[in-house]
Amino acid sequence: MAKRAYNFNAGPAALPLEVLEQAQAEFVDYKGIGMSIMEISHRSKEYEQINDETQELLKELLGVPAGYKTLFLQGGASTQFSMIPLNLLTPGRTAGYVATGSWANKAIKEAKLIGEVAIAASTEADGYRRMPKPSEIHVDDNWAYLHITSNETIGGVQFHEYPDTGKVPLIADMSSDILCRPIDVSKFSLIYAGAQKNLGPSGVTVVLAREELLAESPKNVPTMLRYDTHAKANSLYNTPPAYSVYMVNLVLKWIKAKGGVAAIEQYNREKTDLIYQAIDNSGGFYKGLVDRDSRSIMNITFAIEDEALEKQFLKEAQEAGFIGLKGHREVGHMRASTYNAVPRESCAALAEFMADFQRRNG
Ligand code: PMP
Repeated sequence: MAKRAYNFNAGPAALPLEVLEQAQAEFVDYKGIGMSIMEISHRSKEYEQINDETQELLKELLGVPAGYKTLFLQGGASTQFSMIPLNLLTPGRTAGYVATGSWANKAIKEAKLIGEVAIAASTEADGYRRMPKPSEIHVDDNWAYLHITSNETIGGVQFHEYPDTGKVPLIADMSSDILCRPIDVSKFSLIYAGAQKNLGPSGVTVVLAREELLAESPKNVPTMLRYDTHAKANSLYNTPPAYSVYMVNLVLKWIKAKGGVAAIEQYNREKTDLIYQAIDNSGGFYKGLVDRDSRSIMNITFAIEDEALEKQFLKEAQEAGFIGLKGHREVGHMRASTYNAVPRESCAALAEFMADFQRRNG
């Protein structure tokens, strides 16, 4: 069997070994056609089948009610920071944004280039150590939408209770936690996610939205940045990132085979408990960087107070085969990303390493 690293990368991140092996098996000859999926037209029946089936699988796994459409776009989640206001924040209107850390702030910066932005809540004063409670989020009935970041990949905070926005469409960046747990999709008007954490490789961005939001974009929005272009063309307006969509298809089938999103959540909780317990049982040797009730089950951020010892930890962890534990340059310290495809064994090994490192240095 392949020797696999303990991969805690933040994104691009670990993919399921079974998925990589299936992709490998189909790499030079996809289902007997004598070509790979990268070598055929996106208008072929083989690709159209992948395009349709992947949309259906996503809807099935998330329990999406009728009236939603899935798009496969390019430009990363970062392009959605612009596409959302370009399409939905029409002149004279205001959009609400919840400021919860680095990614929310990037979305806010882009929206401000396009229209009026109101900050519905901000945890900046708390150093982005927590997510706001729904009761702290002020929503104005006239807003074009409210935008939240479901999981702050850099800070390691995650919404565990989403705000109720009434008639105001709720939009969520779920780039780093889509499919990590069941959600009530009917609360959301638009969900988007770059694929390279829980969905597959980079190159495709998934947008799942109520059909009416995608039906008609403002007149002056460029063709490629219009939701209606891609919705009408079933994500085949131009050449799609076919290989990435194919990989997403395999990842979704893998989730289904694991028992679906509820089973994945259970698994994720078991995995992250191992590491959070290593922090909580360390008597303060390891310190979590966020409040307990906002802890992410996707990105675990922690520190060792003594800077030299922290450096030593990262050095030894790397030597022991743990990849990607260095925190993002904006916050420093440590971060273990425990996306769906990170196996429990990696988390158990990290918890064990942490305990051992503390025994030797505590
Ligand atoms: N939002 C969140 C929450 C993210 O984690 C990221 C990427 N790490 C992005 C947006 C930007 O995604 P992309 O690199 O696909 O543009």
